[in-house]
Amino acid sequence: MKKLVVFLPACLFLLAQEKVDEVTDARMRSEEMEHSQLLHTLHMLTDRYGPRVTGTPNHEAAAKWAIAEMTRWGLKNAHLEAWEFGHPGWLNESADGHIVSPVKQNLKFEVIAWTPSTNGPLTASVLEVQPPQGPFPPADPNAAGRGPGRGATQRLGPLKTEFDHWIEANKDVVRGRIVFIGKAAEVPVNFDPPAKRQSDDAVRRAYDPANPNGGRGGRGPAAPEDPSRYSLNEVNERIDAMLVANGALMRVNDAARGEGVIVAQQHRGYDPATAVPTVVLRNDDYGRVERLIADGEDVRLQFNIVNHVYPEGKTSYNAIGEIPGTDKADEIVMLGGHLDSWHAATGATDNAIGCSIMMEAVRLIQNSGVKPRRTIRVALWSGEEEGLLGSLAYVKQHFGTAENPKPEWFKLDAYLNVDTGTGRIRGAGVFGPPEAAAVLRPVLSQYAEWGVGGASSSSSRAVGGTDSTSFNNAGLPGIGMSQDPIEYNTLTHHTNLDTYERIVPDDVKKDAVIIAAQVLHLANRDEMLPRFTKDKMPAPVPVRPF
Ligand SMILES: [Zn+2]
Repeated sequence: MKKLVVFLPACLFLLAQEKVDEVTDARMRSEEMEHSQLLHTLHMLTDRYGPRVTGTPNHEAAAKWAIAEMTRWGLKNAHLEAWEFGHPGWLNESADGHIVSPVKQNLKFEVIAWTPSTNGPLTASVLEVQPPQGPFPPADPNAAGRGPGRGATQRLGPLKTEFDHWIEANKDVVRGRIVFIGKAAEVPVNFDPPAKRQSDDAVRRAYDPANPNGGRGGRGPAAPEDPSRYSLNEVNERIDAMLVANGALMRVNDAARGEGVIVAQQHRGYDPATAVPTVVLRNDDYGRVERLIADGEDVRLQFNIVNHVYPEGKTSYNAIGEIPGTDKADEIVMLGGHLDSWHAATGATDNAIGCSIMMEAVRLIQNSGVKPRRTIRVALWSGEEEGLLGSLAYVKQHFGTAENPKPEWFKLDAYLNVDTGTGRIRGAGVFGPPEAAAVLRPVLSQYAEWGVGGASSSSSRAVGGTDSTSFNNAGLPGIGMSQDPIEYNTLTHHTNLDTYERIVPDDVKKDAVIIAAQVLHLANRDEMLPRFTKDKMPAPVPVRPF
């Protein structure tokens, strides 16, 4: 028989009924420490199938492998659920580039997704142009709540009149050139690298039950748009159109990061015909070329880039698997993370590891011998990097919103998400009233020795950062895990360094145990997680595109 431990600390009236199944949790913990499958899962999702860009055969193969693996573990109803991405898939197959004059050496760069191939090697002289940039916005003392790793403060766009004039003045000089866009960023040596772990004090403060509204959540409100300025996307569209229309051979952007880090994401047009072949060059190489040009040298580069477009990628897939419930099988506890990635590496910390942790958590529950009362459903999303598209489509299709709910909206107990890299879980942010966070605190307190601080509640329905906010946006209890940063913001998030090697095995195994305990607790308690009542539900927030 299970030994049930009743926790009776500070908030007596809230926690008295939270019975934590310590025996099963301990069994899952020793299973993970002794027979973990987590790194094998990670290996397959990264080394074998990465990178997993939405709409590509790599992503689809990874999703199918995950389904087969979960079925092998005994999960039921594992399947792909289609949603309309609406764009072709895109992958780079090979890319090499060199300085050929006045010296010879390899260049380090990454290709931007949805840009075209070079159609064989091309060699040309470099031209650096300097489009006008807007000023930095005034400091906002209330700026908070953005997810980690989205980069430094962006400038306001340039004035439209000034920028249009610049395009007119420069369009005739780009023909036949490899065009460098903007001055190289100066990235000083960092003598004060950020901490890899959150301090215990900070974690304690964030999850202090006396301050339950710690305030995790989606993005803050959008900056007001200035109709006299172009946005960054509009600037890039206009530069690309100028380069295509006037016969430029390539576009090169500065990576603008130290330590060889290159972030290469996407061309927003999703259409290679709207851009010239485009790469992001390591800051060190970009700076070198710029300095050589300043000496009066004719710097010539050679590139050979082969990209592939997959029209069938217009339909993409979320991968789903279940442990069926028993007496409350129609109620669902969900957990997941996004399986799609960017393409410059194998997407290990973003977010093969989140998928591996969630798959491992359901394997632990499946292996524990305990039959959950509610159905446990794991979801591995696609389209996250392009704007949480897979999870938003799933929520729309299955649940609707608080204002326009489908029957399943009332049956979703919670959705737990992991998507901030390899770090140890230090707490949970629950969309809902303070009583919702209180439900998880006794479970999480079992892992205080691992540095887990507890749970806090949040009320933001803004979409941003990661897939749990797709649920919050619909008024559903999305639960986001706060993790130690390790190297996420400094080295791995969306970069060319996001590989298997950057994973901390001990942290991620503990993460799987912490997730499994929370999910099993939610699946087996008598009541569903407390939600905002209709009169307390925060007002809906429109989904705005990334
Ligand atoms: Zn991610």
